[in-house]
Amino acid sequence: MSRKKIVAGNWKMNTNLNEAIDLINILKTTTKQFSSIEKIIFPPFTFLNTAAEVLKSETSFFVGAQNCSEHAKGAFTGEISAEMLNSIACKFVLVGHSERRTYFKETNEQLVSKIQHAFKNNLHVIFCFGEVLEERKSEKHFDIVKQQLENVLKNFSEKDLDKIYLAYEPVWAIGTGETATPQQAQEMHAYIRKVIGQIFSTKAAENISILYGGSCNAQNAAELFSCADVDGGLIGGASLKADDFCKIIASF
Ligand code: PEP
Repeated sequence: MSRKKIVAGNWKMNTNLNEAIDLINILKTTTKQFSSIEKIIFPPFTFLNTAAEVLKSETSFFVGAQNCSEHAKGAFTGEISAEMLNSIACKFVLVGHSERRTYFKETNEQLVSKIQHAFKNNLHVIFCFGEVLEERKSEKHFDIVKQQLENVLKNFSEKDLDKIYLAYEPVWAIGTGETATPQQAQEMHAYIRKVIGQIFSTKAAENISILYGGSCNAQNAAELFSCADVDGGLIGGASLKADDFCKIIASF
């Protein structure tokens, strides 16, 4: 699969049912003109079915889940399986978001298992990774990102990459208002492509789509998206405001 322009919105644990319906409907209408850009929203689980219904006839606007279980089914109270997500026309799942790694202590083994279950159930994955502030300050950020990629992706084939988008999200930039500079984003995205080239092939490195995430907003998206190796954004806070999300999509 070749590189695409993508804007994804991670709503996290925000909105109630009415707010979610309003936001989805506004986004459906206002983003119609951007048919060459793939749009994906990640509402909370409870509103996924509604979102998938509202967007079911859309060809460039999809729904994803913020997480899925590393198990197929069974006695795992409170968990949601990849099979359940597939059954409600959900197309994507986020795996490896820093909030899941930090607050829920998700390990590489769990991330691998989640991706395997996602693939078995026809879901595409946005695989998130990125360094924390200390690691950047001590100039370990390239090594950390390489490890995060290798530890998980070595379990998959080059063909599997057709179903994966990468999201580089420096943890120090998530929800902090401190965005990576376009130079920092470009430098890391070029490095990520190099690592993908080493694990798989030059062709795989050229073809994979890599999103930037971390305080990306309507003001800074254009500069970030103009970087040669940035294929779009994974947006948190700014994806909850229809106007801002639309402006970000229009930034390409
Ligand atoms: C995120 O949670 O993936 C994210 C990028 O959040 P924010 O845009 O709010 O920094």
